[in-house]
Amino acid sequence: AHLARIDAVDEKVHAFLHIDREGALAQARAVDAKREAGEKLGPLAGVPLALKDIFTTKDMPTTVGSKILEGWVPPYDATLTRKLRAADVVILGKTNMDEFAMGSSTENSAYGPTGNPWDLTRIPGGSGGGSSAALASYEAPLAIGTDTGGSIRQPAAVTGTVGVKPTYGGVSRYGMVAFSSSLDQGGPCARTVLDAALLHEAIAGHDPMDSTSIDAPVPPVVEAARNGSVEGMRVGVVKQFRGEGYQAGVLQRFDESVELLKSLGATIVELDCPSFDLALSAYYLIAPSECSSNLARFDAMRYGLRVGDDGTRSAEDVTALTREAGFGDEVKRRVILGTYALSSGYYDAYYGSAQKVRTLITQDFEKAFEQVDVIVSPTTPTTAFPIGERADDPMAMYLADLCTIPTNLAGNSAMSLPCGLAPEDGLPVGLQIIAPAMKDDRLYKVGSAVE
Ligand code: GLN
Repeated sequence: AHLARIDAVDEKVHAFLHIDREGALAQARAVDAKREAGEKLGPLAGVPLALKDIFTTKDMPTTVGSKILEGWVPPYDATLTRKLRAADVVILGKTNMDEFAMGSSTENSAYGPTGNPWDLTRIPGGSGGGSSAALASYEAPLAIGTDTGGSIRQPAAVTGTVGVKPTYGGVSRYGMVAFSSSLDQGGPCARTVLDAALLHEAIAGHDPMDSTSIDAPVPPVVEAARNGSVEGMRVGVVKQFRGEGYQAGVLQRFDESVELLKSLGATIVELDCPSFDLALSAYYLIAPSECSSNLARFDAMRYGLRVGDDGTRSAEDVTALTREAGFGDEVKRRVILGTYALSSGYYDAYYGSAQKVRTLITQDFEKAFEQVDVIVSPTTPTTAFPIGERADDPMAMYLADLCTIPTNLAGNSAMSLPCGLAPEDGLPVGLQIIAPAMKDDRLYKVGSAVE
């Protein structure tokens, strides 16, 4: 049924870069056979899923939305892919994304943009716009995203779906193509909080193949999602997540969510986190710096595209020609910014200062979580904007992640879930819930109470 739905709508939505029809049907039949044989199956057995094209898959191409990896079929499965298969999830295919997960609209994909199913002339968010659009268009009931600065939560917000950035280290990064390794985190996308929890549980857990993976039990997310409540909880509202640039209808729905939390028994606490104002600036030094280092591996020798290798050119020239042809403008912009920020003479002023700001943000969160159990905010300052509107204005594009980035810098966990439609444009608004590291269960407890 989901393959038929994809056939009917994906030409317009363009959520998928690759559809694995044969593989999906074979997997579905294998689950049927297990069921008939009386095998005990998990809660996600046979459930279709759309996988962001940033996770390696042994039998399918992995492009990361880039021409530089066009046609590359990885020789191994990411840990997350392996866990999905072990849970008998049916992987339908790979979803569209901003190239190397750099963007907030999926317009930076080398394979063309994805439409927002609520209004195909608008962006579905990014970088994981393909995954969120697949959910919102009912092409898949589950999807996987990755969140470096907001790429799970912001697409969830603008498509009226649920997205969770687990605690950094909660879900393995092994086989997840690296953008900014100290920030990148894979996580679940779904249409309900309980679905997200079931998927979260299936993909989380310690992995010896990822040196930053946390060796501790997975927080009890499913139990929390089944027992939603905010009774007696202290909920923080941060002064800095408001003000200029926020759409009136977004703030209106957010304020109503706060009233709802109060009426359900939560105590609201006003919080001041002054360093959050610096988060965007710090992020746009740290993320490009790490990207400039990570993307050095795309040298035309190891993977995918190779341009100009006609026997007359040096390896350096082939690398340069391949990068020129294979990387898009935003990727080049970040590599140049990052190389500059890390260069001798500028390192302390740029990268060093940004790391100090990162510590201040972590400390602001620590102080906040002495007073509250969770923090709430709008997920994004505005609803989905029209395709093309911010394409030539990187700063305007970067502002889409104003409320999501502090969480990545501190490494804690956060969820976005729908909280109504903005009255002025009828488009979905997202409510963000933020919890301390390894307290991801609180997101689900609060999320399912207000869903
Ligand atoms: N939009 C942010 C960026 O462009 C975040 C992307 C992400 O979370 N992968 O870097």
